[in-house]
Amino acid sequence: RVVVGTKVDQHHVNWVTAYNMLTGIRFCVSRTNAKIDRDLTDADFDAKHKFSFDITGNELTPSAKYDFKFKDYAPWVFRHLRSKFGLDPADYLVSLTSKYILSELGSPGKSGSFFYFSRDYKYIIKTIHHAEHKFLRKILRDYYSHVQENPNTLLSQFYGLHRVKIPYGRKIHFVVMNNLFPPHRDIHRTFDLKGSTIGRDFKEDELEKNPRATLKDLNWLRRNLHLEFGPTKKDAFVEQMQKDVALLQKLKIMDYSMLVGIHDLQRGNEDKLRDKTLQVFQPGGHKSEDQPPNMLMRTPSKLENARKAQELRQLIKNEKPVPMGQILDKMPDEMAGGHRKHSYFYSDDGGFRATHENDMAGEEIYYLGIIDCLTHYSMIKRFEHFWKGLSSPESQISAIPPERYGDRFIRFISGITKTRERAEAEKEQCEHG
Ligand code: ATP
Ligand code: CA
Ligand code: CA
Repeated sequence: RVVVGTKVDQHHVNWVTAYNMLTGIRFCVSRTNAKIDRDLTDADFDAKHKFSFDITGNELTPSAKYDFKFKDYAPWVFRHLRSKFGLDPADYLVSLTSKYILSELGSPGKSGSFFYFSRDYKYIIKTIHHAEHKFLRKILRDYYSHVQENPNTLLSQFYGLHRVKIPYGRKIHFVVMNNLFPPHRDIHRTFDLKGSTIGRDFKEDELEKNPRATLKDLNWLRRNLHLEFGPTKKDAFVEQMQKDVALLQKLKIMDYSMLVGIHDLQRGNEDKLRDKTLQVFQPGGHKSEDQPPNMLMRTPSKLENARKAQELRQLIKNEKPVPMGQILDKMPDEMAGGHRKHSYFYSDDGGFRATHENDMAGEEIYYLGIIDCLTHYSMIKRFEHFWKGLSSPESQISAIPPERYGDRFIRFISGITKTRERAEAEKEQCEHG
C-alpha cells in the first residue's frame, strides 16, 4: 500500500460521505468544545448523540449541503483524550474543516476499511466495522485509563468516534486518529510488523512498480534491519511497548502491528513523488492545488488566518460557553499547524530518532506506533486459527490467541531493537565463538 492519496472531489464516489463526515465532526467537536470543561462521569463513556442535517437547517443543526444523519459517541471522553494527546482544539477543527476535502488512501486492505487523510495530513479517518465500533465503545474506559497512566503510549491515538448515514444508505462507522507519518518528511521505507512470518512477505519484485509499498516482517528480516536505539531509548521504547501490549492482551485484542516509517536523514526529502499525488481540493473555489503536504504547513494569506485562529483559540479556551455561530465565524481558512510534541516517542520532529550505543544521535528518524488494535479475538480469528493451524506450525501463524500473539510481538520487536554496533558485535560473536 502506498501512502499517497487520491483527492476526494465532487466527482469522487465517496465525495458525499467524506463531506458529511467532516461537516458532522466539525459540528460535534465545536459543540462540545463550546462548553465549559468538566470532569468525566460514568455516563460520558456510554453517551451518544444523534443529529439530523439537511439543506435548510433546523434549531439544532446548521444547514448542510446534503441530507444526512450523524452520531457522535462519547464526545466528552474524546475531548479529554484529545487534550491528553496535546491537540489544540482550534487546530483540530481547522484540520478537519469541510471547506477542504481530504485525500483517500487507495486500495483498502482485506478488512475493507477506507482511509482518509485530513487536508494537512495530520489526521487519519478510518472507517471501521460495526463490530470494531462496538468493541471500541466497550473498551473505552480501559483505553482512557491507559492513556491517563501512559501519556507516552505507542497505541493508536483515538480522537473521535462517529457514525454517518445518508438517506437509504448504510451506516458508516469511523474513527479519527493520528497519522504516524509526518507531513513534511519523506518516509523512505514503511514496514508493518507483527512478529509472524507466515504470509508476512511483500513480493520484492513488486516494489519496483510500487516503491512506497508497506513491507512486512520477512522483508525486514531479509534486509537485516534494526530499530537502532541505544540503551536509553531502547529501554524506554521496550518498556512502553510492554505496557501497551499488556493492555491489548488483557482486552483480548490481536492482529495489531508495529507500523514503522523510516526517514533517512542523509537522503532527506529527495523525490517529489508524493507531491504529485497528494492533492487538496477546495469545493466552492476554483483552485485545485497540487501542493505537497509540506507546502500545506505554510500558510498563504497568513496574517488574517493567524489572527482568526488566535481569536478562535481564545474563544474556545474561554471558560464560558460559546454559541456555535461565533466559533464558525472565527474559523480561519488556513492555519499554521502545531506539532505533537507531547509524547516522548514523537518528540524528534514528530518521530523518534535513532541513537548509537553511546546514546549519540543516529542517522534515521523512526515514525512508529501500534496500529489496527480493534480486533477482538472472537471476531474472526478463532476461525482463521482453526484453518491456518491445519497446515502451519502454530508459533508461526498470525492468528494465535491474544496472550501468545502479544508475547510473540514483544519478543520480535524487542529482538530487532538494537544499534548497528550491537548487531555487528553479536554477528562477530556468532562467527568466532
Ligand atoms: P487489515 O485488517 O487487512 O490489516 P485494515 O484495513 O485494518 O487492514 P490497518 O492495518 O489499520 O488497515 O492499516 C493498513 C495500512 O494503512 C498500514 O499498514 C499503514 O500503511 C496505513 N496506516 C494505518 N494506520 C496508520 C496511521 N495511524 N498512520 C499512518 N499510516 C497508517
Ligand atoms: Ca492490519
Ligand atoms: Ca484490521
